[in-house]
Amino acid sequence: MPNVSNPFRGLPSVNQLLESPQLKSLVDSANHNVVVGGVRTFLDHLRDQISAATEEVQIPTPQELAEKIANWISGEEQPHLRSVINATGVILHTGLGRAPLADEAIDEITAMAQGYASVEIDLTTGKRSQRDLAVKKLLCQLTGAPSATVVNNNAAATMLALSAMATGKEVIVSRGQLVEIGGSYRLPDVMECSRAKLKEVGTTNKTRLSDYESAINENTGAILRVHPSNYRVVGFTETVPLDELVKLARKHNLPVIDDVGSGALVDFAAYGLDDEPLVCESVQQGADVVLFSGDKLVGGPQCGIIVGQDHWIQKIKKHPMTRAMRVDKMTLAGLAATLRMYRDPESANRKVPLLAMLSTSEANLKLRAARLSEQIAAAPCVESAKPVAGSSTLGGGTLPEQYIATWCVGIKPAAISVDELSQKLRMGTPSIFGRINQDQLLLDLRTVLPKYDVALVDAITCLVNSDESSQNSTAAAE
Ligand SMILES: *Cc1c(COP(=O)(O)O)cnc(C)c1O
Repeated sequence: MPNVSNPFRGLPSVNQLLESPQLKSLVDSANHNVVVGGVRTFLDHLRDQISAATEEVQIPTPQELAEKIANWISGEEQPHLRSVINATGVILHTGLGRAPLADEAIDEITAMAQGYASVEIDLTTGKRSQRDLAVKKLLCQLTGAPSATVVNNNAAATMLALSAMATGKEVIVSRGQLVEIGGSYRLPDVMECSRAKLKEVGTTNKTRLSDYESAINENTGAILRVHPSNYRVVGFTETVPLDELVKLARKHNLPVIDDVGSGALVDFAAYGLDDEPLVCESVQQGADVVLFSGDKLVGGPQCGIIVGQDHWIQKIKKHPMTRAMRVDKMTLAGLAATLRMYRDPESANRKVPLLAMLSTSEANLKLRAARLSEQIAAAPCVESAKPVAGSSTLGGGTLPEQYIATWCVGIKPAAISVDELSQKLRMGTPSIFGRINQDQLLLDLRTVLPKYDVALVDAITCLVNSDESSQNSTAAAE
C-alpha cells in the first residue's frame, strides 16, 4: 500500500465532469439521472481500483476521464436485446430467438398489443371464456387431434403433462430417449420436477417392446416417447414404433405421451429433410397427448403446444401450475396467425419465414451471393468478398447431421483479423452474426431474409477500420 496522504486528490468532481462537452451531450441523448449515476459509479470504481493498487496509479486528465466515462455510459446504455441479422446459416438458432415470424403474425401481434383484446371473453355472451380458444380449433384442424391447448414452451408442456397425468407414478421411457436439449433442459430433471418417477427401460441403443412390457406394474402412470431431436442413435439400434407402444398401453389402460419436440405440421421431406415426425401421424397412431414447440418447425412464437384426447387436455389445464405457464395475448395472436397460414400449404411456404428460407433455391442464393459480394468488396474494412458454396443447418435441436446446400458471401478482412471483424459486426447496429471458416467470415444467405440485404451491406460498409471504434465500443470501467 502506498502511503500517499490523499490518492484521490487528482480526481475531478462529478460536477466538473458533467461540464465536459462529451458528458453534456450525453445528457441530451440519454438523460440527466443516467449520466450522473454513471459518472458516480465510474468514479467509485476508479477509487476502489486506486485504493487496491499496490503501485501508484496514473490518474487520467479530466478530459480523458470525461471521454472514458462518456464511452462507458454509451456502452451501458445500449440495449441488451437488439435485432440481429442471422447470417450463421443456422435457421432455428436458439441463441438468436429461433424462428422469425411471418408479417401476418407480426401484424396480428401489433394489433392485439396496441389495445385490449378478447383474450378470455366470449364475444357472443360477454362472459368469461378460455384463452386457448384463440388457437384450439386451428390446432385440431391441422393435427387431427380432438383437443388442444398451449403453454409457455415445450419444456412447460412436458412438465405439466407428466405432472397432471402421472404424478407419483412411474413413467416408462427408453434409455435411448433421455434427451438433453441445451444445458438447462434434461428430461430426467424435468421428470423429477413433475414428481413422476422415471422408469428407464432398454439400453442406449436398443429398446424392445418386451422391455416396456416387463416394466409395467400397478405403479405405472404412463409411457413416454421422446423424439431424439438433436442427436441420433445409429448403427446397432432398435426402437419401438409409436403404434406398438400405443397398443401395449391400451392393453394396460395407460396413456402414451409423445414429445415430438419440433412439431412438423408439414412433411419436411419436401424440403429435403427427413426424419422429423409429423404431429398428425402421432395423433393418428393414437398418442394420448402430443407435445411440441411453437417456435421450432412450426415457425411461430415461443410456446409449447399440447394436442390430444380432451380428458387429458382438461386435466392438464386444471393443473395448478398451468396458470404459471400460460401464454399472453401476443403469443396467442402470433400463433393463431401462423397456424392460419398452414391451412393453405402453398401460402405457408411463401409466408412463414422458416419455410420460405428452406424452400429458397440454391440458384437464387448464388445470385444474391454474387450481387452482395460485389457490394461488400467495396467496403473499407474488406480485402475481398466472394460467393462461396456452403451448407446450412436447421438448428434449434432439430435434424442433426442434415445439411442444406447454400451460398455465402466469404469475406477476408483488410488490416484486422477475422475474429475482430466478426466481433465488430456482432456489436454493430444492426448486429450481424456470421460464421468463421478458417481465414474467412462467411455470411450465409439462406438465413438472411432478402429484406435485410441492404442493411447487411450498409452495416459492413459503415465499419470503420481504426482501433478507435473498437475502443469506443468495448471501453469499460477498468
Ligand atoms: C426442443 C425440445 C424440447 C424443449 O422445447 P422448448 O420449447 O425449447 O422448451 C423438449 N423436448 C424435445 C424433444 C425438444 O426437441
